[in-house]
Order: sequence, then structure tokens, then C-alpha cells
Amino acid sequence: MYRIPFERVNWTTSIFLIATALISVTAVPYFIWKCGIDGFQIGLFFFYIIATMSSITVGYHRLFSHLSFKAAWPVRLFTLVFGACAFENACLDWASDHRRHHKHVDHDGDPYDISKGFMWAHIGWLMFKLNPEPPMDNVADLRKDKLVMWQYRWVHLIGFVAGILVPMGLGWWWNAAHGMNPWIGMLGGFLIPGVARIVVAQHCTFFINSLCHTIGRQPYSSSHSARDSAIMAFLTFGEGYHNYHHEFQHDYRNGVKPWQWDPSKWSIWLLSKVGLTWDLRRVPDGKILLAEMREARKHAEKQLAALEHSAPGLAQRATVAVSDLMEKLTASYHEVEQAVAGKVDLSRRTLRDWQRQTQETVQEISRVLQQVAAQGMSAPSAG
Ligand SMILES: [Zn+2]
Ligand SMILES: [Zn+2]
Repeated sequence: MYRIPFERVNWTTSIFLIATALISVTAVPYFIWKCGIDGFQIGLFFFYIIATMSSITVGYHRLFSHLSFKAAWPVRLFTLVFGACAFENACLDWASDHRRHHKHVDHDGDPYDISKGFMWAHIGWLMFKLNPEPPMDNVADLRKDKLVMWQYRWVHLIGFVAGILVPMGLGWWWNAAHGMNPWIGMLGGFLIPGVARIVVAQHCTFFINSLCHTIGRQPYSSSHSARDSAIMAFLTFGEGYHNYHHEFQHDYRNGVKPWQWDPSKWSIWLLSKVGLTWDLRRVPDGKILLAEMREARKHAEKQLAALEHSAPGLAQRATVAVSDLMEKLTASYHEVEQAVAGKVDLSRRTLRDWQRQTQETVQEISRVLQQVAAQGMSAPSAG
């Protein structure tokens, strides 16, 4: 008991998080068991989950925190209203925290610093106040946006009306119009597209700060804890490609490859086709490839270093065995580097070829290293 710093507990946030979670695992299943659930409530739940989640990812995150594209007022208004329905605080607070997360990732100034533990990054940072609270001195640009400031002022009221009262009212209306008990419809609206949806949306956002800094691959950089994971991308509207995002935070895409699941990217792109978003920022393909090559080289060097540590004799043989491949990797790195520096327009095909070549070289290096290690293990000891 004495280990919980009660004087630092943020009671309002903590009670909200715990109460909504408790309702979701008790009252919600009890309600469904007793009263059933109809297509309207399910539809409302999905509408709200999509509207809320995309408002956080497209609006709060990519638009307001990172300025990765520009958007007309209807897009800003929609994401600010439904963002408020996520009960993740005002966009201005959210963006300030998030910009500090990127600036100080994995260190003290990072509000959801994963090095303080998984639970801290997921939810702990919200339940305990930092002492002292950092100033919001990194969102001067957003303060000039009248819609952002309007939401900042009324965020809880907007969230309560649009995120709780409206689904309750819709549930009432639907049941009344179809000869069913309107009170049941209203309660269903409160519990399912209301409370349960808030809990799901919140934890999916929190996963970006916890799981996306814990599980997955690091193809673009291992100098920070952020990771790429397709599973996480599915749960987070495309934000799961978090390693890419931390490396290139101003790109409006998180899943940068055409096949990667990123509905937020698709929404922003589709909106640009009807003139509602514009100036979509993209990192040039050559630069992305360079990051991948740099990381591949680093990975191979780490493998060699690990071998050096466990079997110094083998490491020398391994270094010789892969030296040609490492040289090849370095040479193509410099080729791409020059092309990028000279702003040569690299065709998609050339880039793809380079990418394939890099992958093959890296796989080959891994294979040779494993082979040398296996041979070393099976060879009789020289004493
Ligand atoms: Zn992050
Ligand atoms: Zn970000």
C-alpha cells in the first residue's frame, strides 16, 4: 500500500478510467445477456469507434501534433468533436504531450516513457501527476487555430454531449420508433456506443504508447524503442508502424508501404482527392531506403559483435566470410546516398531493385554468420 504515491494520484482521470473499464466488464455483458443487442446498437458502436479512433489518429495525431498535412475546417471540426468523444483530453494538451514524447522519446521528458515500464507508458502516466507539470510551451502554432481553442475550452462538454448523450438519444429514438422499450434503447446507447466504445478506443490509443514501443520490428531505426507491427496497426488504425513514424514523424503515412494496413493514411489521401486536405507531406523513397540500409548494416554489425562476445575465435572467421557482402552493402548505400543528395529522380523500379538487393544481402549475411557459428559449435575444440 505504502508504495502508491497517493498525493500524486490524478483522481478524476483515475476514477474515470477505472469506472468505465469496470462498467464495460460488468454492466455491459449483463445488459446484453438480459436485454440482447440489436443491429442498430452494433452499427452505432462501430460508427462511434471508427469516428473516435480516426479523429485521434488523423486529427489529434497526424494533423495537429505533427502538421503532416493541411485540412479544411470541416475535417478539423469533425476530428475535434469526435476526438473529444474519446475522453483523451483536449487536442491542445494531447499534442503538447505527444510532441514531448517525440522530442524526448525513452527519456525523462517523454510523458509516456517506456523505460519507466509497460504499465506506466500505457496508463500510469495518466493516473499519476508529474511533479511539477511541464509547461505547454510547444503548441503556440495550435493556439492560433480558433477551432482548437474552442475545443480546448469546452472539451468535456463536447465529449459528454456528442459521445454519451447523442448515442443515448439515438437509442431512445430507435426503440421508440420500432415499438420497443425506449428506456432500454437509451441504456444500450449509454453502455455500448457510449462507455464500452470509450474504453476500447482509449486502450487502442494507449497501446501505441505501450505495445508499439515493445513488440515488433525495427526496420528504420533501432536508436529508439518504437516498433513496427502489423497486428498493432490493425488495432490502431494504422498507427502500429511506429518505428517508421518515429523516424519520419512528419510523413502523413505511418504504414509507408502500399500494402501496409493504414486506414488513417487512406482517409487523408481520399480527403485530398475531394479538396478537404492538401499539402500531404511524404518522405522521399530514397531517404526511406537509406534508413533501411543503414539499419540493416547496423543489424549485421550487431550480430558480429554478439559472436565476438560469445566466441571470439569464430568472430574473426565470420568477419572474413561476410566482408565482401558488407562491402557490397556499403557500396550500394553510398550509391543511393549520392542519388538522394543529387536529388536524382529515382524510379520506383530502381528503388525496388535496391531494396530487394539490400534484403538479399542482409539475409545472406545472416545465413553466413549462422553457418560459421554452427560450424564452430560442431568442430572439435582445439583446446
Ligand atoms: Zn511513440
Ligand atoms: Zn507521433
